[in-house]
Amino acid sequence: MAILNNLLLFTSTFQLLLLLRVSSESSQTAGDVSQFPTKFLELAKSPDVFDWMMRIRRKIHENPELGYEEFETSKLIRSELDLIGVKYRYPVAVTGVIGYIGTGEPPFVALRADMDALVMQEAVEWEHKSKVAGKMHACGHDGHVAMLLGAAKLLQQHRHVLQGTVVLIFQPAEEGLAGAKKMIEEGALKHVEAIFGIHFTNRVPLGKASSRPGSMLAGSGFFEAVITGKGGHAAIPQHTVDPVIAASSVVLSLQHLVSRETDPLDSKVVTVSKVNGGNAFNVIPDSVTIGGTLRAFTSFSQLEQRVKEVITKQATVHRCNASVNLTPNGKEPLPPTVNDVGLYKQFKNMVGDLLSEESFMEASPIMGGEDFSYFAEVIPGHFAFLGMQDETKSYASAHSSLYRVNEDALPYGAAIHASMAVQYLKDKASRGSEPPKGFHDEL
Ligand SMILES: [Zn+2]
Ligand SMILES: [Zn+2]
Repeated sequence: MAILNNLLLFTSTFQLLLLLRVSSESSQTAGDVSQFPTKFLELAKSPDVFDWMMRIRRKIHENPELGYEEFETSKLIRSELDLIGVKYRYPVAVTGVIGYIGTGEPPFVALRADMDALVMQEAVEWEHKSKVAGKMHACGHDGHVAMLLGAAKLLQQHRHVLQGTVVLIFQPAEEGLAGAKKMIEEGALKHVEAIFGIHFTNRVPLGKASSRPGSMLAGSGFFEAVITGKGGHAAIPQHTVDPVIAASSVVLSLQHLVSRETDPLDSKVVTVSKVNGGNAFNVIPDSVTIGGTLRAFTSFSQLEQRVKEVITKQATVHRCNASVNLTPNGKEPLPPTVNDVGLYKQFKNMVGDLLSEESFMEASPIMGGEDFSYFAEVIPGHFAFLGMQDETKSYASAHSSLYRVNEDALPYGAAIHASMAVQYLKDKASRGSEPPKGFHDEL
């Protein structure tokens, strides 16, 4: 099955490259790429692009789909790509779509958007409120898709100036189900040299972008533990093995992993966010379940190991047993998101050219996680935040039932995406790049 899949993947990539080459031959003239950032923003703000992005975003917002279930979202992306004449590969990682614009030749640079929604009930009353009870786009991924399609439209209109190939990655399941990892396993980064991602934020003003070199977002993981003792009458504790006492001791001991075992200058978090056990005043329960999250920029697996040890050993002290699950509900740990220093510099300069120098804001590292980190682990990557805060309204933070996207940010995202891709390919061409090893052999 794997061989057949690989063969299909290879064949489709080959056909795609041929198609791209033929379509770009007729228009292979170099333009002045330096004027592109501002031109892209003007175009992205024009009704032709802006209204189109807004319509797409609203449609996706009304029909939120969870990780690996983004079938309608994916269908919408493919039909829009068809309309603007962009070739793509589908399916990748169940619902993922990968579009290609340009020469079909190296260098390949990727732009990424995530497609999934969250298990939440939308509390915002508006015309395009989620039509699906208990599901909501509360992290802005509906807008991320619209912005990447916007960039696709701009790039497709200017494909004759692309000095290589732009790869558009629409990935499923960012929210805890490691969609990026699955995309990589299915060949999404084949030949790709660098990747860029954008996420909305309410902490940066509209029309500004923010990032930093190096560690940007923490590695993130979850744990769930069942601590088992022997229940019985609450007034006769000597005949029981009390898991409530064991769990209490575990919760306190876990705090020492950060306060006593971590360099105070190295940020880490261990939070126990749920404790479930017992339901009577006079009964000691048989077991208690606890769960929470851990975050770290360095030594993540060591911290995971210590969480496991502390839970099991503290349980033993209190004569209980504990089983620890580090992937509860299939939630896989995420590596930290680390921005490539060279790409960060390019990004900062590009924002200066596109908007103004003041429009770039240096970000502080945050303890949130992003599965863009999987991509940036394999090839140089750059993840940035796009501002949407303005004076007239307040915008709730991501994962709030009151979350709203400021749609005025869409043109900035589309123009930033498109400009970064053009800029990257231009810089690469000026330095003279070699095709990836084996590229032509495969063709
Ligand atoms: Zn999210
Ligand atoms: Zn998100």
